[in-house]
Amino acid sequence: MNTDEIVRRSKRTVLIVEDELVNQQLLGFILRGSYNVIFAKNGQEAIDILHSEEYRVSMILLDILMPVMDGITFLRLAAEDERIHSIPIIVLTSDNEMELEAFQLGAMDFIKKPYDMPDIILARVRRIIEFVEDREIIKDVEHDPLTRLYNRSFFFEYSRRLMDSEKERSFDMLAVDVDRFRIANEVYGRAFGDQVLCTLADGIRQILQENMGIGCRADADLFYILIEHGADLNAILERIRGCVRDGEHQSILRIRMGAYCQIGTDHPVGWYAEAAGSACDSIRGNYQTDVMVYDEALHQRELMNERLIADVDTAIEERQFIVYFQPKYAVQGDRPVLVSAEALVRWIHPELGFVSPGAFIPLFEENGLISKVDNYVWREAARQLCVWKKQYGLNLQVSVNVSRKDLFNSSLCDLLRDIVSENCLTMDDLVLEVTESAYSQDTAQMLQAVNALRDAGFKIEMDDFGSGYSSLNMLCLMPIDALKIDMKFVRNIVTSKTGYRIVELVVEMARALNVPTIVEGVEDQEQYELVRRVGCDVVQGYYFSKPVDAAGFEKLIEKEMEQRG
Ligand code: C2E
Ligand code: CA
Ligand code: CA
Repeated sequence: MNTDEIVRRSKRTVLIVEDELVNQQLLGFILRGSYNVIFAKNGQEAIDILHSEEYRVSMILLDILMPVMDGITFLRLAAEDERIHSIPIIVLTSDNEMELEAFQLGAMDFIKKPYDMPDIILARVRRIIEFVEDREIIKDVEHDPLTRLYNRSFFFEYSRRLMDSEKERSFDMLAVDVDRFRIANEVYGRAFGDQVLCTLADGIRQILQENMGIGCRADADLFYILIEHGADLNAILERIRGCVRDGEHQSILRIRMGAYCQIGTDHPVGWYAEAAGSACDSIRGNYQTDVMVYDEALHQRELMNERLIADVDTAIEERQFIVYFQPKYAVQGDRPVLVSAEALVRWIHPELGFVSPGAFIPLFEENGLISKVDNYVWREAARQLCVWKKQYGLNLQVSVNVSRKDLFNSSLCDLLRDIVSENCLTMDDLVLEVTESAYSQDTAQMLQAVNALRDAGFKIEMDDFGSGYSSLNMLCLMPIDALKIDMKFVRNIVTSKTGYRIVELVVEMARALNVPTIVEGVEDQEQYELVRRVGCDVVQGYYFSKPVDAAGFEKLIEKEMEQRG
């Protein structure tokens, strides 16, 4: 017998609330074979027993006329009492007039005195206990066990029912999300994360109590709320935030809200929830805006995203992706020397024209399509490098971007090795740029993937260093061969002394780790001179050249050849 079965077969406890001894004994006799039977002489005694928590009572048989506290008073109190209201009550009566009142106060059934049909009494008790237990199970299925809010599918169902029954009102769908919840969970621990979600749920419950609506936890840190239209959305968000702000560490969390106002009937409820979710997503990382309403512009952007996703396979087949190259120069010698190029993808769409990487890379990184594009870019970059090596006999590296999603691919190493050997290159020729933010999520797995690449002989550049959340401590653990300092540091190097000092520190740190530094985004003479003075080894930026197509890059190679003489 497993535990479920033991629980199912174990005897339930029935509480008989009855002042007459004869009746007590009669009912006890009928039920004792199937149930654990306990007694109370009046309503007050029954409440004391139910509050004592000594028994978990599955059913109450309740007499109406009793001294101290009668059955009707007991029913009234029970309805309000959290520990009692979910226990089914059968009223024991000989008086028809009382029945209706008892039903109205929440009794589930009645049994007539005298108790001359024991089988029927037993059957009624059994049926009602089963019914209520099934209902409890359904409640468990309906609710998220952590926050006790509805789960997604029941929420959609009940939202539809609510809107159907309140046709004259209109409703808003809200999505509430926590920025960087996963990282907070990792840093402060799961218990902290759970605590945050529960406080958030409490805040949402308050909102629901004050407005007509229902809510759910749809996903890890995503909540949906359906609420009557007209409430001040900013005020709602503030209220929810207020709850979270009180908790320890919780004030560091940023909570965002998206909304779809005045839901129609054109789509299923889930569609509106997703729209609110998209609005909420659209302000991720945007610290100026906390509430975003789904509107036409957002809708258009979504349609565009759908379009780009649908077109990606054709784009690869038809070679619509063009690889551009941006030169990197070693700057610490007498003159800048061209040493490498970063491969950067461009999409020339037959109908949309030039699509900037900013419009499709983050999108494809989210849904995993980036791996297809990257694979294409890596092959193109390697093929091109092979051509240049033969044509110019020049020692040149090409670096390619490797997304976080690529690193999850267990055959990544083999794939890159094949690309290298098919193009007669060595592992040193194709450098891999991995963005710093890839390391700060799933840290252990990323480290393992990057280590495997290094073991295979590839060189890793840490891209966008300083833009993420990695600690200095982590930097020591990270397997890297070069540090690529994020553009925003260059912006500050000119304008502030601290900005300059910070870059100096990063360079010193990289030296201590024995890795060269690359600075990207250098645009003018002043910036160039400062980063050189600070000790950066390699410079990439508009100062030398914007990313250019292969033909454009050949001009840069030829210029370099001339200088070398
Ligand atoms: P990133 O890897 O940080 O690449 C550098 C970006 O900075 C490039 O933008 C480049 O054009 C730009 N840039 C270079 N020098 C300067 C400068 O002096 N001033 C300014 N303002 N910008 C400069 P791009 O090409 O638009 O690429 C944006 C991002 O898209 C890249 O950032 C990279 O994360 C991603 N990306 C581009 N191509 C690929 C690819 O093939 N695969 C993957 N996974 N990501 C790519
Ligand atoms: Ca890069
Ligand atoms: Ca970068």
